[in-house]
Amino acid sequence: MSHTMASSPQVRTYGLYIDGVETQAKNTSVRSAPGTGEQIAKFASADVADTERAISVARRVFDEGSWPHSTGATRSKTLLKLAALMQENSEGLARIEADEVGKPIKQARGDVAGSIAMVEHAASLALSESGRAVDNVDPDVMSMIIREPVGVVGMITPWNFPLLQLMQKLPYALAAGCTTVIKPAEITSGTTVEIARLCTKAGFPDGVVNVVTGSGSVVGDALAASIDVDLLSFTGSTAVGASITTSSAPTTKRLSMELGGKGAAVVLPDADLEQAANGVLFGALFNSGQCCVATTRLLVHDDVADELIDKIIAKLATVKVGRPLDERSEVGAMIHEYHLQKVLGFIETGLSEGGKLLAGGSRLSDGEYADGFFVEPTVIDNVDKDDTIFQEEIFGPVLAITRFSSLEEAVTLTNAVDYGLANTVWASGIQTALPLAKRLKSGSVWVNTTLENAPQMPTGGVKRSGYGREMGPEGYEEFTEPKTITMRLEPAAQFFGQ
Ligand code: NAP
Ligand code: MG
Repeated sequence: MSHTMASSPQVRTYGLYIDGVETQAKNTSVRSAPGTGEQIAKFASADVADTERAISVARRVFDEGSWPHSTGATRSKTLLKLAALMQENSEGLARIEADEVGKPIKQARGDVAGSIAMVEHAASLALSESGRAVDNVDPDVMSMIIREPVGVVGMITPWNFPLLQLMQKLPYALAAGCTTVIKPAEITSGTTVEIARLCTKAGFPDGVVNVVTGSGSVVGDALAASIDVDLLSFTGSTAVGASITTSSAPTTKRLSMELGGKGAAVVLPDADLEQAANGVLFGALFNSGQCCVATTRLLVHDDVADELIDKIIAKLATVKVGRPLDERSEVGAMIHEYHLQKVLGFIETGLSEGGKLLAGGSRLSDGEYADGFFVEPTVIDNVDKDDTIFQEEIFGPVLAITRFSSLEEAVTLTNAVDYGLANTVWASGIQTALPLAKRLKSGSVWVNTTLENAPQMPTGGVKRSGYGREMGPEGYEEFTEPKTITMRLEPAAQFFGQ
């Protein structure tokens, strides 16, 4: 790939990517690595006019271009070419994610591999998915339900998994024949522009993939307000998602909302406690807890609570918090100073409301941590249902523990939050685990595993975690519109009682 992906600490420069051409904007923003403080990237800051230009390109290319009418085979092959180019550039892409987000390089490599798998999966759907026929209405009536691409898709993504969140949307929209205008989170725009460059190399026609970097209140709002955007696919906080439902309302565009979460792990007495301890901790600390599907609450049965907590604390002592590019690092930095302070504030509130600190609780600022935004992994016991850290999304490496004494109580506690994205059950008996999984109000439930995703499995939320699904055939369908074409065969249709 381009020299901008070299491993030196030089500043990578990105422009706006519109109609297959990269151009600079009047204004730019600079990103410093949250793990080291070094300046690493310069992004274009688009204005409303830049955004409207990208939307009009995507509109024209959808209405007049070849992509929406291309064959499934063409879409599939072009996506597979993109996947191959991503594979060739995988280490560079992982490096950008680690630099810009502050995540451990090992985990960034996993994000890239997962993203490639989604592109390959979308390529298979471009071949396998098509419409259906209805032939049981009347022997003389035949109806075809064809699947058309929804049109121009706006995509707005968050900073926690810039590449992965984009890839839960983009390849599926491309497989369906849509054109796109993407607004990544301003501070983590690098891999999104890299992907646009690779899309051109892979053979997507100019104007099918457009990237407009800049702030949410300018670029994001222009996407929401535009009558030429047919579907806006948003991933981010519930507050911003809710505001977009209002700002986009006059356009009556379709929306897909992947919002916040407050996941629980429920541990029953018959669970394998060693496995559960590892899984709960991993679910809480992955991506420094900046994960919509994080295990932010541990709900544990009284009978096994002390034993499980001892195991968690022992395991925690072996987890390496470190700089993103250190191969040993398992937990990296927080995204920025403001967010770090917000997480520390949640910890303080949790303790003031009666929580008991079992581990962590402070900022790490000596030695290797001196130039970055690091928080100690934190475990707080004795958290009640009405406490702030039980209810609100912390988005940091903080595990809040609550004990229960019956299955009914476990169900009530799990569902006693506004969110409904993903929960986890740890139990060895399938006859308890499965009925429990069915009663938890969330788009996903893991049983005896956690954060286990694959492109074949749809994900998404219920309640205030949003609506719509990504990945799987369901994720592909989000980017299509069914059209019903009904024909009368012989005899001719009878009207007005002829
Ligand atoms: P955020 O503050 O809601 O921002 C998300 C995106 O929306 C960013 O690109 C942001 O732009 C943009 N935006 C901000 N204001 C906007 C507006 N008025 N109109 C249109 N767009 C606007 O979320 P975040 O802090 O980046 O990410 C963390 C949140 O995302 C958490 O709540 C997490 O749970 C959620 N999340 C959900 C999922 C899921 O699948 N359900 C996955 C990952 C993350 P700028 O920030 O660049 O200005
Ligand atoms: Mg309390």
